Parts: sequence; structure tokens; C-alpha cells
Amino acid sequence: MRLDKFLANSGIGTRKEVKEILKNKKVSVNNVFVKDGKIHVDEEKDIVKYENKIINYKPFVYIMMNKPAGVISATEDSHHKTVIDLLNDEYRTYDIFPVGRLDIDTEGLLLLTNDGILSHNLLSPKKHVDKKYYVKIAKKLNENDIKMLENGIKLEENFVTKKAKVEIISESSNENDCKKSDNLVYIIISEGKFHQVKRMFKAINNEVLYLKRVKMGNLLLDENLELGEYRELTEKELNGLR
Ligand code: URA
Repeated sequence: MRLDKFLANSGIGTRKEVKEILKNKKVSVNNVFVKDGKIHVDEEKDIVKYENKIINYKPFVYIMMNKPAGVISATEDSHHKTVIDLLNDEYRTYDIFPVGRLDIDTEGLLLLTNDGILSHNLLSPKKHVDKKYYVKIAKKLNENDIKMLENGIKLEENFVTKKAKVEIISESSNENDCKKSDNLVYIIISEGKFHQVKRMFKAINNEVLYLKRVKMGNLLLDENLELGEYRELTEKELNGLR
């Protein structure tokens, strides 16, 4: 791989910063100072040093974020803060992107990585990766609602949702007094159509008031992460996703 890419991917700096760093003779390859970012380095064999310290090449990064409402799950946006903006500079240079999307008002588990293959595998409709959401809804569900949500609902002319699972967490005891208790449910779906959960509840004349993703495949949202916080996946978590 090109030396400038190697350096940027290693978190040394952005491509632009890397150019400057190279110009200032701060990088050596096998103990020879190099100014040309275009030269090829073998990340397994060559010893690349920045300011005399060996760079351990870290090809892929896997981050679990507890996405807050108000930020967009995209790499850039002209109007809103993105999930990438929440990352510290160390991660900014890794070409990280979010694996799938959560709506701007949806919170919870978001995986961020620069591993395109893992991302593809998690998002591919053929893989049926389960996504579990914690949902506050406007009205209590009846048996027929649950049956419809679980068996499949027509959302578009050519799209009926796949089988889903609904788990009731708590229900308001009085239809006219939601304050007595909220209508809280989990829903597990294996697809990821635009606004899918909200549209599924809308299709049964209900409304999603709050939505949070808590699980994706085997990956559980770390409850110790406050909104907007993130951490790298553990080896075990990563293996569970592969
Ligand atoms: N379904 C939705 O409606 N919104 C999300 O953000 C995720 C799933």
C-alpha cells in the first residue's frame, strides 16, 4: 500500500497532514527517511517509523457508539452534525463510516468501521441479520397488532416485511392516561428499510414516540456508554459479528 495511505490509516494524520509530515522528514521506512508518500510499503514486513517510533499498522477499526438523537448516521452532512463528528481525531483519519443508518431521532447501537466486507455482510438482505429495537409507542398493542407485526405488513406495493418478533415490556394500564405507564416494546426485525420500524407501527395505526436500537446480530449495546459515547469492539464482540 502507498506510504501516505498507510500513515493516514494508522491515525498519524489526514492525507493533507501526512503530506506535510513527510515533507518534514519525520517518517522513515526501514531506517531511511522518506518524503514521497507514493512509495509502496509492505505493512507486514517494512518497518515504518514516525518521529522515531514504530507504527503498528491497524488496518481495521470497529467502534460501537451509543448514537444520540440529533446527529446523522452519515460521514458528512451540510446541515447536521454526523456520527463521524463525534469521534476524536485519532479515529478521524481511518475512513470510518457507519454500518447502516439510524434516523436522526433514533438513538442507540451504531457500528462504525472501515471494514467494507464486514459492513456488507451485516447489511446484505441475504444475511438476515437481526436488529432489536426498544420502542415507546403511542398505543397499547392488541393481539391482532402483534400478529400483523410478526407475520408481515405490506409497507409498499412490492414490499411486505419479513417475520418479526415483538416482546411487550410494559403497557399503560389506562388507554386514556398514558402517564400511568408507557407502552414499551421490543421489536426484532431482520431487514433495514427506510424508517422501517416507524412505518410498521404506522401501518397498524400506532406511532413510534421513541426508538433505540439495542442489538445488531450478536452485538449488544454496552449500557455503560452514555449517549454520544463510543468504544472499540472487543475481540469477542467482533468475532460474534463475523
Ligand atoms: N427503523 C426506523 O424507523 N428508524 C430507524 O432509525 C431504524 C429502524
